[in-house]
Amino acid sequence: MQDISVSLTARDRALFGRLVAAGLPERIFDAHVHVFERACFPPGFGWPPRECYNRFGGQHTLEQFLDATQVVLPGRTTGMLSFGTPHSHCDRAAAARYTGSSSDQRMRFGLALVAPEDTAAELEQRLRANRLIGYKPYRSYVTGMDAEAVRIPHMLPAAQMALADALGLVVMLHIPRESRLADPDNQRDMVEICQRYPRAQIIFAHVGRAYWYRNVVGNLDGIARCPNAWLDTAMVNHTDVLHYAFTHFPRERILFGSDAPIAWLRGKSVEINDQYAYLMAEPYAIGSALHDPASTVEFTFFYYEMLAATLEAARRAGWTAADVEGFFWGNAHGLCARVAAALGITP
Ligand SMILES: [Zn+2]
Repeated sequence: MQDISVSLTARDRALFGRLVAAGLPERIFDAHVHVFERACFPPGFGWPPRECYNRFGGQHTLEQFLDATQVVLPGRTTGMLSFGTPHSHCDRAAAARYTGSSSDQRMRFGLALVAPEDTAAELEQRLRANRLIGYKPYRSYVTGMDAEAVRIPHMLPAAQMALADALGLVVMLHIPRESRLADPDNQRDMVEICQRYPRAQIIFAHVGRAYWYRNVVGNLDGIARCPNAWLDTAMVNHTDVLHYAFTHFPRERILFGSDAPIAWLRGKSVEINDQYAYLMAEPYAIGSALHDPASTVEFTFFYYEMLAATLEAARRAGWTAADVEGFFWGNAHGLCARVAAALGITP
């Protein structure tokens, strides 16, 4: 049987010791986790052979998440904001039920997946029934147009955003477009959506997907001025990108996220000529992956690469221990707890 567990090498252990010495706090709240079970997909559904979820048996259940965090973060208290995986075959109602059942409203909170065709009434029902604090759209849920033509308002129809504004929901947004954070339409749309729906709490995932330095420079100023705009750092292990974010965006609105289970894979995102590639120890097809089949180097988890880059960027930015703790726990946990309380969702 396939081993779907996560385990540490001697080199991982040594690195973890250095992360602790560099100030990794006792509590880690992960604001970007995909937690779902096979039953969120129709019977007979199978992932393509090189899809990374196959590494974990085609799912990433709450139990798998908790097991992996115990291995990767020994001795740490963990919490999460989770959601399903936005795939066209995913049953969004089933995913919302699973996310709700994985949440305890104390340490673990959840979001619903949403497509543009879901009505605001349906969405509200999905949130209320499963005690979820917001939602996550995705570019591939916008159909009938060229993927590269999709803009943020296509992903977030006005009726859904009006609901987010009325209820003060969390909206986890993976922005579209090849140029990502640097795209001029995105730049306008990001600020406009924050301003038009000021009670919606909008998290721009992956620092607006800026995985290379030039993509972030000069492109955070608009949303930095919006008090309801947040960043998560999921899958960003680029010290300069993180340092830029840490020095050009209000630190109390930056959240640690991992994008687990992808973060449990061994690899590192590397900037190359104003692009980036995922150097991978394992032959999974995630974005621009380059596989190292000869094991030329001994990789560690994306997760540890993120922690290492974050702690170094925080050091360079002059963050205090309290800033680091806020980033790893208080900022995201506080946001989730406040939104849950306003919705009347109690532990
Ligand atoms: Zn993700």
